[in-house]
Amino acid sequence: MTLEKYSIGVGDRFGHQGAAQLQALQQADQRGVKIVPVWNKSFREHTIVGTQPADTRHAADGAVKECSWKHSYYVDADHIGLKNVDLFLDSSNFYTLDVADFIGKAAEEREIASFVKSMAKYTAEFPLSGVRTTTRVTEEDLAAIGKKYLFAVKEAGRIYRHIAEKKGAENFVAEVSTDEANEPQTPAQLFFILAALAEEGVRVQTIAPKFTGSFLKGIDYVGSVDQFATEFEEDLLVIAHAVKTFDLPKNLKLSVHSGSDKFSLYPVIRRAIGKHDAGLHLKTAGTTWLEELIGLAMSGPEGLRVAQEVYATAHARIDELCKPYETVINIDRSKLPDPQLVRRWGSEEYASALRHTQSDPRYNLHFRQLLHVGYKVAAEMGGEYLRMLEKYQEVVGQNVTENLFDRHINPLFLGSKQS
Ligand SMILES: [Zn+2]
Repeated sequence: MTLEKYSIGVGDRFGHQGAAQLQALQQADQRGVKIVPVWNKSFREHTIVGTQPADTRHAADGAVKECSWKHSYYVDADHIGLKNVDLFLDSSNFYTLDVADFIGKAAEEREIASFVKSMAKYTAEFPLSGVRTTTRVTEEDLAAIGKKYLFAVKEAGRIYRHIAEKKGAENFVAEVSTDEANEPQTPAQLFFILAALAEEGVRVQTIAPKFTGSFLKGIDYVGSVDQFATEFEEDLLVIAHAVKTFDLPKNLKLSVHSGSDKFSLYPVIRRAIGKHDAGLHLKTAGTTWLEELIGLAMSGPEGLRVAQEVYATAHARIDELCKPYETVINIDRSKLPDPQLVRRWGSEEYASALRHTQSDPRYNLHFRQLLHVGYKVAAEMGGEYLRMLEKYQEVVGQNVTENLFDRHINPLFLGSKQS
């Protein structure tokens, strides 16, 4: 399976918006840009929502049929490891091998020594044209890279071979993610991580490094856009060079996780992938759920009441809901509106506070982040929430499609092709 040049990870917590998401991709297709969907759902999300990997597959197949989608599509076992990958073997054809937890665990001395020995010849690749942040790599640097990343790379190898054994290497796409590590990887580190993945035989088609700056859930990038721009472009150069140098899939590309709503980065990414004719995988997930809330709020008094209830409950259970997402959200509790006040809001006020329109003074990023992690509340409403979605699907779906197309696909993948 060869992943296309452009792909987008779309999340659908409750499995009702696949068709609305596909419609956004069809709009791009009509403008001549093919972007394939990857429905991703992590073990964490399945646990919180109470769904099974087979549900994601079922929803994806259904949406593809409903929309007569004619390109490929994928179901991503997102951020899996050896301990839970088996649950995803039947329903997924895309695996995000998450080895962030293994970074910094030391491989055996002799393994590090043999890594340094086999990689020493590649230090001559630096300085690499266009990469200014690292001009040379010494054997000491290699040893440090080996110490920090080799164990994690070997873990990726173990997971990859396990999946390949069960499914056949040709029947899935492998992504390797280190984005949930504590520190960003430099372009030079990325080069040698890729070298080590090639040595392990991992046919990685997309890699998600941790970039500089903060990628928080559902809100814009926090950090230096210029610094990101340099790093992103150098990563592209490193990947292109790694593909020429090592035995790696020719379509290997960068993946940007927590990629929804990074509006200040999209023009920079767009320019870089255009300039280098590079592919991209952008992983978004949770914001489709926020569009459901916006749609319900806009649909009339009944839907609005559900949206208000979700907020009131999320507000009361903030510690519990935020805990699994501690490192990827940043909520200032003093800026959260009082749930009693939100109960008096009309449709427009609720939707404007939640919708990510930075020029709108009513937009509240703290309100948005809390609701982002609040999907557990809707999951607990069970059938009642799903009935609301079905009843008001038209306005909900419209918000889902517009959010994906206008705010994500258009600036990122179409750029100047905007009509
Ligand atoms: Zn990730």
